[in-house]
Amino acid sequence: MQPGNEPSFRQSVDLMFNRAVALMDLPPGLEEKIRVCNATYKVRFGVRLRGQIETFVGYRSVHSEHMEPVKGGIRFSLGVNQDEVEALAALMTYKCALVEAPFGGSKGGLCVDPGQYDEHEMELITRRFAYELIKRDLINPSQNVPAPDMGTGEREMAWIADQYARMNTTDINARACVTGKPPHAGGIAGRVEATGRGVQYALQEYFRHPEDVAKSGLSGSLDGKRVIVQGLGNVGYHAASFLSAEDGCKITAIIERDGALVDERGLDVEAVHHWIAKHGGVTGYADATHVADGAKVLENDCDILIPAAMEGVINLTNAAKIKASLIIEAANGPVTAGADDVLREKGVVIIPDMFANGGGVTVSYFEWVKNLSHIRFGRMQRRQEEARHQLVVDELERLSASSGTGWTLSPDFKEKYLRGADELELVRSGLDDTMRAAYQSMREVWHSRDDVDDLRVSAYLVAIGRVAASYKAKGL
Ligand code: NAD
Repeated sequence: MQPGNEPSFRQSVDLMFNRAVALMDLPPGLEEKIRVCNATYKVRFGVRLRGQIETFVGYRSVHSEHMEPVKGGIRFSLGVNQDEVEALAALMTYKCALVEAPFGGSKGGLCVDPGQYDEHEMELITRRFAYELIKRDLINPSQNVPAPDMGTGEREMAWIADQYARMNTTDINARACVTGKPPHAGGIAGRVEATGRGVQYALQEYFRHPEDVAKSGLSGSLDGKRVIVQGLGNVGYHAASFLSAEDGCKITAIIERDGALVDERGLDVEAVHHWIAKHGGVTGYADATHVADGAKVLENDCDILIPAAMEGVINLTNAAKIKASLIIEAANGPVTAGADDVLREKGVVIIPDMFANGGGVTVSYFEWVKNLSHIRFGRMQRRQEEARHQLVVDELERLSASSGTGWTLSPDFKEKYLRGADELELVRSGLDDTMRAAYQSMREVWHSRDDVDDLRVSAYLVAIGRVAASYKAKGL
């Protein structure tokens, strides 16, 4: 899909990797060992649908097994190919290292347009693909743990988990074979929103550092910032929803497959999301201007651009025309290596994908741990925490009464303070902490090295350094 002479997605990831390793002093050969994809499995399988057998092509690529299990989503899209899954698997290795999720990198994909099949047909296709991967241990709680990606969600993950359980009836950890499951099938609170929530936490952390904000020519807080979002799917919707409802951002454009909606006063994200769910696209939505050439809207004036759809959308054909001074890569690989050069030259700050969308794998990690420990987070501590807080409140109220000062605790404070954290709050807390720590690790490199002037190379330096350390510890 790359226009002109641009490298493929995988080559683009490799070029960015190379830019970083050129600044490192790795032992001979280790650079190549880390860069290359260990293995890619390609499978063709048939499913009987509508009276005839249809053949599907799927992939599962394992980029690095320096830690196991390896982890990475499964994508359902007609565009899936080997180059793409290998690029995405490589990004998973670096992403897991950066957000300190103890996994190697993997990715899967199936060439299918989910819109062309009904639910029962999709279940047959998904289960059959899962069967092919499970019997080769390419889905396994201790070796390879998929998650949702473009075109897949809780529904598909529940089918995959059930398929694994049927084929491994005595595996007590069967549920940990896949993450992103619905809560009633072993999922965790906050996983659906996690990647978009992570994008919000990433931006919040960036805006905590005025020197960093100044590098993008912006100032102040997120409040009032004009934001363009491409792709109102899982990641884009949650990011746009949280940023507008909780941080005061104005979503001035939403770009979808069938065009873009533009409103400089700020779009109603929930209303647009509802419209898309009902009508399958943005066309016909009345409360905004519809622009048929959606991709062109990436070039509109705004403060923050959030590509949250797919790879390669900012490339050599439009990079020079991008007006945003801050881009946060919610999608994987939305900026090609060539476009990255152009944008850096222009002084645009890019918050790179391996950090920006790391919230998904972070909460997947929490879900995997929950499945292995067979207990919900907070179940043991919550009431004990509430009881201890009650002691403090009782004591404060006793002191107030006995001293005659007459002061009282506000009902709002009491309600918040007395309530012990539930699973969702714990997940959000762990995610926020992870995003802050990962940003700090990139930032330290960004500010401390004269030969580094962007966050992407900083992210690669941190991630590759950690993978290299892990190989060294193994004696390789
Ligand atoms: P999704 O299928 O839920 O949503 C993708 C959205 O983008 C859809 O609304 C689709 O209509 C739209 N879209 C697709 N092509 C488009 C185009 N050319 N122009 C405009 N809109 C387009 O997928 P998702 O899970 O939100 O994933 C989006 C991106 O985020 C992908 O790059 C994926 O790899 C990445 N990502 C997802 C997760 C996750 O947890 N789901 C985690 C990390 C990274």
